[in-house]
Amino acid sequence: MSATPAWPPNSAPRLFIDQPLGDGLELRIDGGQAHYLLSVMRMRPGGTVKLFDDRTGEWLGEVSAAGKRDLTVRVAAKLREREAVPDLWLCAAPIKKGRIDWVAEKASELGVARLLPVSTRRSVVDKLNGDRLRAHMIEAAEQCERTALPELAELVRLDTLLRDWPSGRTLFFADEEGGTPMLEAVRAHPGPAAILIGPEGGFDLVERVAIRALTRAVPVSLGPRILRAETAAVTAVSVWMAANGDWA
Ligand code: SAM
Repeated sequence: MSATPAWPPNSAPRLFIDQPLGDGLELRIDGGQAHYLLSVMRMRPGGTVKLFDDRTGEWLGEVSAAGKRDLTVRVAAKLREREAVPDLWLCAAPIKKGRIDWVAEKASELGVARLLPVSTRRSVVDKLNGDRLRAHMIEAAEQCERTALPELAELVRLDTLLRDWPSGRTLFFADEEGGTPMLEAVRAHPGPAAILIGPEGGFDLVERVAIRALTRAVPVSLGPRILRAETAAVTAVSVWMAANGDWA
């Protein structure tokens, strides 16, 4: 007797729906999401799709009608509660276009709660396309089966970020000029945390002094090599998640 396949099939597509989901809700899906379901996933009435809303959790949706450019999906059953999101922020200086998109995607996959773009004196990028970054985070969450999305903060200047720093949160300052080895520092400072990563040109001396002057700042080393900003971001988040996050 073959095992009953898991229902819905793991191959069922997953979509983020930016409204609260609930049992019996009828959703009209159009635009890019409809194109993906109809043309890419060849979805037809009776097909199933997993839906999550970053509010209530993940639900099973059943296609009840399919047009050329839209579908109607009925929310049929709850599959999972919204995940508990580890309380880690990633504060990263914007780096060249494709790379900051990559950082946003990895932050979402790795379970970060909040992505804060931080403009610094050596940032080569001074404005960001928030919609594009959010789209990358949504796509990553759909793919990696998250039921929550990282929050995307507005671009903030470093001096403002430091001035308004929340007293209950440790700021692990990735300093390529030296600091406590990241794993040792993370173990010594449990609780709500953030990681600060500089731009391609790093922080200048004035910034470095200002960051280190913050009571909750902990300068950390990510090893003996100078990592690209995006490598440093993923490395530091991974170390924190392994030691303090939800990987257990
Ligand atoms: N100042 C660097 C240089 O001399 O080429 C450039 C900065 S590095 C490309 C970008 C950012 O990654 C740094 O500001 C720092 O936040 C982080 N980073 C890179 N390597 C690191 C390391 N070994 N330890 C801690 N942070 C590091």
